[in-house]
Amino acid sequence: MNKEELKIKVLEQIDKNAQRIIEIGQTIFQNPELGFKEYKTAALTADTLESLGLECQKGLALTGVKAAAGKNQGPRVMVMGELDAVVCPLHPDADKQTGAAHSCGHNSQIAAMLGAAMGLVPFMEHLDGQAVFVGVPAEEYVELEFRERLRQEGKIRFFGGKQEFIRLGILDDVDMGLMIHSHAGVEERKFLLDCDSSGFLGKLIVFTGKEAHAGAEPHMGINALNAASLAMMAINSQRETFREADRIRVHPIITKGGDLVNIVPADVRMETYVRGRSISAVVDAAQKVDRALKGSAYAIGAEVKITNVPGYLPLIQNQRLNTLFAGNSAQLLGEENNLTGYELMGSTDAGDVSSLMPLIHVSTGGYAGTAHSKDFAICDPEMAYVMPAKAMAMTVIDLLWAGAVEAKQIMAGHRPAFSKEEYVAFWEGYNQDM
Ligand SMILES: [Zn+2]
Ligand SMILES: [Zn+2]
Repeated sequence: MNKEELKIKVLEQIDKNAQRIIEIGQTIFQNPELGFKEYKTAALTADTLESLGLECQKGLALTGVKAAAGKNQGPRVMVMGELDAVVCPLHPDADKQTGAAHSCGHNSQIAAMLGAAMGLVPFMEHLDGQAVFVGVPAEEYVELEFRERLRQEGKIRFFGGKQEFIRLGILDDVDMGLMIHSHAGVEERKFLLDCDSSGFLGKLIVFTGKEAHAGAEPHMGINALNAASLAMMAINSQRETFREADRIRVHPIITKGGDLVNIVPADVRMETYVRGRSISAVVDAAQKVDRALKGSAYAIGAEVKITNVPGYLPLIQNQRLNTLFAGNSAQLLGEENNLTGYELMGSTDAGDVSSLMPLIHVSTGGYAGTAHSKDFAICDPEMAYVMPAKAMAMTVIDLLWAGAVEAKQIMAGHRPAFSKEEYVAFWEGYNQDM
């Protein structure tokens, strides 16, 4: 059998399972669960992998699952799906109790990952390496109080599931990764390749001044609101130093402006994200923001406490993986349906994984409405669930065929932004108690 014949066999196997793949996608859509609580979704994922004869690790980073197929030698290619939903209580398929809904389409990631497994597992003997199927918790950066509680209890250190997977060593034996993500509003059969996303760092800020009667004795007080508004001005004065290419976004809000109008404000709170296209640009802008906050507090005589919160890293898409995937998606849908030049509007912890190993995060069509909104819908289940399964399975074949030459070359040519240890130390440096 040559490589093209193997691809045809695997695609036939996926077609045979198409109805099952679609049903899995729809079952998860109708049973949305929030991050680090995806128990039903994880059980369905594990049951499906076990039904293919794979041994499945469960409860990884609380709810994650992982199963490897193929010869225990050569490169290991991960096919990853996210288990969690987002909070969207107005969505017609939202969970009535929790408000969770799959209006980010992560259900299709799990369906496509399992679909790729259904296609590949019976044929892994023809490949020189392993396919590693992973269901990862908690991509959405939500329910921060719940996650902070998990952190206090020692159950997690970081708020993103993939960040936890890295920290716990669950990805130590994986060499590269493939994943897909819905692109809301692209109803047609399209693959959106090589999209950019920004990384971010969060800051919680408390200005502390001194209370006094605002009319009678303001000279006895220290006005924390004045320090905060000066800080906003100082941050704005830094904007001309943000380079367009770095796409820095600093968007602070004041969450508490004082207590009573006739008392000099002594407790003023702010929150901000610092976003950007590269780690170094985010860190540089974050230092400027810190200076603006501290300098403004000093000017007024107030105190400022800045609590940094780890965010997510920018996505680095591996170009050779991207080219292989593009060849396969073009074979499935035609070259004209491979789109490039799109930007992901949010941030993802897939960015964190991409700072350690070669990764692609391909956006896919088949979805109506807007992401994270009540009108998000899967309008083309075959496109959402089955086509990405096929494209990922074909790409695994390209990578692991004939001594896994492609995978080995990608590994040899990859320069990670961080080692695992550096990565954990980097985010632990921002992991402070709130
Ligand atoms: Zn989302
Ligand atoms: Zn998402």
